[in-house]
Amino acid sequence: MSTAAPKTPDLDAPGRGRAAGPPRAGSRPGGPAPGIAERTAAVARVAEEHLERTERDAVFPVEALAEMRRTGLLGLLVPAEYGGLGGTLTDLVDVSMELGRTDMSVAMILAMHLQQSEAVVRHAAPPLREELLPLLAAGDLYLASVTTEVGKGGHLLRSYAPLTETGDTLRIDRTAPIVTGGTEADGFLITMRSPHATADHQVSLVYAHRRQLEVVADGVWCPMGMRASHSLPLTLTGTVPAHQLVGEHGAFHRIAGSVFGPLAHLGWSAVWLGTAAGALSRVLRLLRDPVTRKRFDTTSELLLTRLSRARQRLDTVHALLRRTEALVASGDDLSAPAAQLLLNGLKITAAEECHGAVEDLVDAVGLRHGYLQDSPTRLEKALRDLRSAALNYSNDRLHLADGPLSLLDPGVRFA
Ligand SMILES: Cc1cc2nc3c(=O)[nH]c(=O)nc-3n(C[C@H](O)[C@H](O)[C@H](O)COP(=O)(O)OP(=O)(O)OC[C@H]3O[C@@H](n4cnc5c(N)ncnc54)[C@H](O)[C@@H]3O)c2cc1C
Repeated sequence: MSTAAPKTPDLDAPGRGRAAGPPRAGSRPGGPAPGIAERTAAVARVAEEHLERTERDAVFPVEALAEMRRTGLLGLLVPAEYGGLGGTLTDLVDVSMELGRTDMSVAMILAMHLQQSEAVVRHAAPPLREELLPLLAAGDLYLASVTTEVGKGGHLLRSYAPLTETGDTLRIDRTAPIVTGGTEADGFLITMRSPHATADHQVSLVYAHRRQLEVVADGVWCPMGMRASHSLPLTLTGTVPAHQLVGEHGAFHRIAGSVFGPLAHLGWSAVWLGTAAGALSRVLRLLRDPVTRKRFDTTSELLLTRLSRARQRLDTVHALLRRTEALVASGDDLSAPAAQLLLNGLKITAAEECHGAVEDLVDAVGLRHGYLQDSPTRLEKALRDLRSAALNYSNDRLHLADGPLSLLDPGVRFA
């Protein structure tokens, strides 16, 4: 992150006043727009200050979350008429990449929250909409995501836990095997089997304030990577008013198709690309630093080829990310096979290539700076964090979806 950014960003800098609707794309090479860039730099700076502890102890980065609240980034995608920053899809991608350069967990926490907030912007009806959007804009609502379920893994369009409707209320009783930031969240978006469902794929999305639920966290969070994401299993029980349904009963597939799927694949891929780009950048600085460069033979063909390969992987992901961003922002039908294939291809490619790039870098610089925790390259941490990418909605599941989609497009027409 740039160290030249002011300590306290101008929080009154105007957003671009997005009206409610699909976030637009834009073309702004090189990072987030002014204003948003300063807010992002402020969050990155706080994340960096606490990184050693959050990583070592696998605890949630409460200080970085407080800075996301203060800078308004929690309301990045909320239209300006509700007090939000009115940011675009490009802003979501840029901010996710930028924070990924510092810490993949912090970047993922914000990217996932923004995906949830966009579901509220696009699909929550009044009065829930009027209630939640000002809270999001003010930084008073950090949203956690509850979609994964025991027995179905990451399968989005299925739920076994029944949502019970009684009069004007909805009863929630849901176990969740992994909820990022679940112990800190102010509210939850939860997928459950619709009250009138005759099949498991009739899923509803319901919102619950933390104060409306009994939230019980279970176990200890001690993962290989993504340590600061603090993604514990939770049990959530409580009763909420019926108007806290987001979208229609049994119609979560519409939200998944228009928001959850596209924004997850874009946001996650941007976070992974930022993580790998940060790692490559730190390696290149080490190789160019007058003090440390003597330890490396920068004329070595092996070293140069590995650097080239890492850069090539990242440029490939970046091109695919921007192409997919433009498709999603265009408002075109995302259910068409070619569009689905592009969205899934982005997620799979970003997961594989970003991890592969960091693997290349470990070989490029060797044991001292590729394998030890105390190296300024932080390759060891980046590799552990990026190992989660293929698992975070399994690449295998996406390939099994992409096979039949490929058969539906015999002309091989690209989106
Ligand atoms: C750091 C991190 C944070 C997360 N945070 C959240 C969160 O906040 N909220 C949330 O809801 N979820 C969260 N998740 C869960 C994530 O979105 C995935 O859904 C989850 O990781 C999948 O779990 P799984 O690998 O156990 O299950 P599965 O998706 O079942 O995959 C397990 C393995 O089984 C195989 N497999 C099983 N079934 C199939 C199939 N039908 N087709 C193909 N292969 C199959 C695959 O090889 C796969 O690798 C998080 C995950 C990570 C890594």
